[in-house]
Amino acid sequence: MENAPLDIDSELARFAREEARKLGLEREQWVEPVRSNESFTAKDRATTTMLVSGLTLAHDTLVCAALTGLGYRVEALDAPDNAALQFGKEFGNRGQCNPTYYTVGNLVKHLVYLRDEAGLSTADIVNGYIFVTAGACGPCRFGMYVTEYRKALRDAGFDGFRVVLFQQQGGMKQATGDETGLVIDQKFVFGIVRALMAGDVLNLLAYRIRPYETVPGATDEALRECRELLSTAFRDDASVVAALWRCRRRLARIEVDRTQPKPVVSVIGEFWAMTTEGDGNYQLQRFLEQEGAEVDVQGVTNWLLFMVWENRYDTLQRQTLKQDDGGRKGLSGKDATKKLWMLEAAEHAVRAHFQLYAKAIGLHGYHLPDMEQIAALASKHYDNHVRGGEGHMEVGKLVHFIEDRVNHMTISVKPFGCMPSSGVSDGVQAAITARYPDAIFLPIETTGDGKVNVQSRIQMMLFRARQNARAELDLVLAEKGLDEASFKACVNGSRRWRSAFARPAHRFAGVAANLAAAV
Ligand code: SF4
Repeated sequence: MENAPLDIDSELARFAREEARKLGLEREQWVEPVRSNESFTAKDRATTTMLVSGLTLAHDTLVCAALTGLGYRVEALDAPDNAALQFGKEFGNRGQCNPTYYTVGNLVKHLVYLRDEAGLSTADIVNGYIFVTAGACGPCRFGMYVTEYRKALRDAGFDGFRVVLFQQQGGMKQATGDETGLVIDQKFVFGIVRALMAGDVLNLLAYRIRPYETVPGATDEALRECRELLSTAFRDDASVVAALWRCRRRLARIEVDRTQPKPVVSVIGEFWAMTTEGDGNYQLQRFLEQEGAEVDVQGVTNWLLFMVWENRYDTLQRQTLKQDDGGRKGLSGKDATKKLWMLEAAEHAVRAHFQLYAKAIGLHGYHLPDMEQIAALASKHYDNHVRGGEGHMEVGKLVHFIEDRVNHMTISVKPFGCMPSSGVSDGVQAAITARYPDAIFLPIETTGDGKVNVQSRIQMMLFRARQNARAELDLVLAEKGLDEASFKACVNGSRRWRSAFARPAHRFAGVAANLAAAV
């Protein structure tokens, strides 16, 4: 008898059902309802506290102040710690990347604190607080953060807690009218961007000064006052530049000794993991400073420039495929010149604003990265089309650091479970270090535990970096026929070089060597 023809589709469906039953997966798929920000309306503003967190203390404080100045009630959460990680793991999905656990857990931890220790009822918390965060459409897990927040909050007993999202690529087109609680208009975007840039220049300057302070704690004390000064300016809608000048006067009182050769260590990697100042990267920046290094951190402004670059790059590519780009936002039948001009103007505005702030506070000689150069440097090893995490930036930055002698050592922070950073770019960096065998590059994976292991690996690499910084200084001193005592006397006798803001011209990676070359 001839066999009946096989119905492949129903056979596969039957097989899938059978396997799902065996694995205990016979349940409905989770469907995230499409939500808008309507649940937070204009009339809620006076009675609702916005919680924000995610960057450094300076950024979070200033963003809070900027939002307060716009009429919102705002509170910043502490930097996520390992207790937050535990909350994230308890209530989050399995298999997430570490930053998801830390940030989601940090919110749950705070709400649990409000409920169990501050004595608020769950209803008061759900009705009186919202969480505001940036969202994106991926392609990495960043696109799923908001779902993770909602899932964890529901499972932790805060069902209905509002997570309000603004799209990081959405710009000012997200304005949704006067009835919406969170109005994402020009004022909102400028307020946030200015706060982020002010946080950047403050942090960048602090990382330059702190390693060389002669009175321990002097920089942190001045920073605390600077955060206050800037917060007041943002809250009162006063001049930020004037506040930065006041910060400069305060920071100028810090005494420094830059004649000590210190290794410069750049921290790159996944955006959140390299930026946070808490357990999420084992307090990496502080640890490096305790070990005698000067830390070169990456500002949030770099990320803004990268977003502009991405937009421009994609628009230029799409222009060549116009006939096929017929979607709702496609370029088919449109002229993209205006969009390209706007992106160019946005880049100029970001750079000009940043330099205005940098000059006002005394951050001299700081160059924001040239994103075209970074993309070109990376492109030989990492396709510029690949997105997610920092994209090609990690690779391009490492090549730039090595070729332009920016530092003595680069640490790349890879969160456990991160696809783009630890899965992709980490593999590519092996090709870069093979091309430059003398470069000191250390990728570290952050898991929440394993701190001692990571720190001891850093200490081993720092030993070499320290030797290189010393050798650089010795070379310059020999070139100039100076001994170390005369070099120190020269610097100590000069008001210019004793200044907390002094930055000799870049020739070597180390500040002491550059100073010796300059005096
Ligand atoms: S870049 Fe990596 S760590 Fe960051 S959100 Fe994406 S997957 Fe997670």
